[in-house]
Formats: sequence, C-alpha cells, structure tokens
Amino acid sequence: MTNATHPFDALMEIAARPRAVFVRGEGSFLWDDSGKRYLDFVQGWAVNCLGHSPPLLAEALAEQAKRLVTPSPAYYNDTSLKLAQALVEQSCFDRVFFANSGAEANEGAIKLARKYGARHKNGAHEIITFEGGFHGRTLATMSASGKKTFEPLFEPKVSGFPKARLNDLASVERLINERTVAMMLEPIQGEAGVWSATDRFLRDLRELTRAHGLLLILDEIQTGYGRTGKLFHYEHACITPDIMTLGKGIGGGVPLAALLSTEASACFEHGDQGGTFCGNPLMCAAGLAVLQQVSAPAFLKSVTDTGLYLEGELQRLSVRHGLGEVRGRGLLLALDLKMPIAASIVGQAFVEGVLLNAPRPDALRFMPALNVTHQEIDLMINCLDALVMKAGIARRVA
Ligand code: PLP
Repeated sequence: MTNATHPFDALMEIAARPRAVFVRGEGSFLWDDSGKRYLDFVQGWAVNCLGHSPPLLAEALAEQAKRLVTPSPAYYNDTSLKLAQALVEQSCFDRVFFANSGAEANEGAIKLARKYGARHKNGAHEIITFEGGFHGRTLATMSASGKKTFEPLFEPKVSGFPKARLNDLASVERLINERTVAMMLEPIQGEAGVWSATDRFLRDLRELTRAHGLLLILDEIQTGYGRTGKLFHYEHACITPDIMTLGKGIGGGVPLAALLSTEASACFEHGDQGGTFCGNPLMCAAGLAVLQQVSAPAFLKSVTDTGLYLEGELQRLSVRHGLGEVRGRGLLLALDLKMPIAASIVGQAFVEGVLLNAPRPDALRFMPALNVTHQEIDLMINCLDALVMKAGIARRVA
C-alpha cells in the first residue's frame, strides 16, 4: 500500500517543475500528454546536441541493444574501445575513462589529480576552483563548485578547493602553495549565467600551471561536443589541458560522460576508479554515433554560423527593448535582461509553448540543439519579443 495520491507524489521533490508531463520529442520540439507542442531551447540542459530522439541515436541504441548491453566493466567491449579510440584521435588526450554523469566524471578528475599529487608532488591535493563555477551535485563536486547557494548545504564539505576569481590571474597566483596540485574550471561558466573565461586567461592559466608543475583540468561538460563551434572549447584558446571532462552532449541524450587525460597524468592504479555501468556498450554506441556527426567539420561550421545568427537576433531584440549584453559563444548564449524578470519570462514562455532557462534572476540562457534551424530561432525570438514587450509595458504601468 502506498501513500502517493498523484503520480507526481511518488517522486522525491527536488525542484519546482511545471505540471506538464512530456511524452514525446522530435528535433527541437517536445509534446506533453495533452498534445501541446513546445519549442525547446533547453534541450535537456544542453544535452540533446542533435535534438530530441534523432534517428541515428535510436538506430545506434537499437542495434547495440540487440547485440550486447553490458558485459561488466571487468572486461573489454568493442564499442567502448572504438569510442575511446575516436575520442583520443579527435583530442589532445591519450586515455579515457567512461562515466555515467558529468558529476561522476568530475569526481574522477578530482581523484586523478589527488592521485597525481600523492605520486608526484609530495601529497599535494588542493585544486584551485573558481567562484561561480559548477561541477556537479556529488559531495566533492558541490565542494569544488563556487555556487553561493551551495555554501550552507551538506556540511562539512570536502576540503581542498580554494576559490579564485574567473579572469583574475592574480587571484589564482595568490592561492598557489605546496599543497596545490591542480586548477579546475569551466571555459564558460554555464550554470552561473554564461560567463566566459577569456582565451587569454585560459592561456595564462596554462602557462601558470606549467610553471608550477600543476595540472590544468577543464570541465567541458557543457562547452564540449561542438557547443561553441569547436569540438572542444580548449581549441579556441589554442591550449592543451592535462585533463578534461565531458558529459551532456557526448551521449546525445543518454547518460554518458567521460574523463580524458594525457598519458603523463593518467596515474590511476587498479582499484582506484571504476563503476558498474562505466563504459557499457549501449551508451558508448550512442556516443559513437553522436561523435561521428558532431565532429564533422561542416557540422561544426554550421554550429558557428547558427550561433552567430542566434547572437545577432538576440542583440537586435536587446536593442529594441533596451536590454543588456548578449554573452557566450556558439550555441551557449545568455541575454542580460537588466532586471529580475527572467523567471517570469520563463514561466510565460512555457505557457506559450517555448522552453527557456533562467540561470540568474536577470538573465536567460539559450542552449538549443546544435542543429536548430533559423526558422526555429525566429519562432523563439518572436515569442520572447512579445513577452519582453509585455514585461516592459507592465513595468512602465507599475
Ligand atoms: N559540470 C558542468 C559544467 C555542468 O554544466 C554540469 C551540469 O549542468 C555538470 C558538471 C554536472 O553534470 P551532471 O548533471 O551530468 O552530473
């Protein structure tokens, strides 16, 4: 006998969610159980890089499911070997560990850096992270994050994550001491509201870490896999990090993540790292299909072009309504609304059938499918235009 009175009540309450129940998705659109259609500029939080249920993903999963699902991570499987090989070929890294979520990949990166410190740097274990950063919701990744609202939660935190300020090299230098082993950051802080590390800052961090014999860890869970028009964001800055984590887009919608490392920093020993589902061929088959599509130069060029189109349209909208800057890169953009109306706009857009995200009270974030069309962008802009106009009129009347 259960006490649940409504299907919603059987789930733990972890977030305020609209009451709609989604039952189908295709490309840039979702449908709820009443048949209402929604234009999706959230895409599973920048996850569905090829849109909802792309046929190539469904086919790859179906083929693999018929052949082999999980032989156990204690054995090799051909699909994870192929994906690891492809990732090594496409990046500056030599070794891959597959995980099931971004937070798990980041936990692995933190452990790898600590292991490196234990083996090569007299037990150094501190990892300099950044104010505003977001690395996941496990205890260590919440501790590594610089999100203000995390500060009072789940004390005591995991120690060893001093926080520097993004794009402020002196604030990083001040934190380096004999306990420091690494620095870890997102090239664009997505959850904080789309704040970019400049290419110059990334290059300076690379020089600084080299000078002090420290590891540079990039969390590319949101920026990787073509989101900014390059397969990996670090290519924009022309640097090569020691460790990188991937998540979200890597599976095109299914739970897959990865920890990549250079040979020199791949120092795990047997027993240090693992997980029942890590590298299972079903998820890796999805990863392979997605990588083939996303890494094609023509695809990456189209992301850059579409990103510029979206940026231009947002800028025009901003000028029309006297709003603030458009920031970000490729198809990870934010619009500064200059007033705390973002949650209200998101709520009204939902009623109008458009899914948007408000990472801050005064900003909207846009993370559509990487193959979103200009026409779909126009639809979203028209909706946003009307809602911002309404908000402006309401403000003047009040
Ligand atoms: N790192 C970054 C930069 C993220 O944006 C996220 C998720 O939003 C994570 C880590 C955590 O990933 P996951 O939710 O898959 O654990």
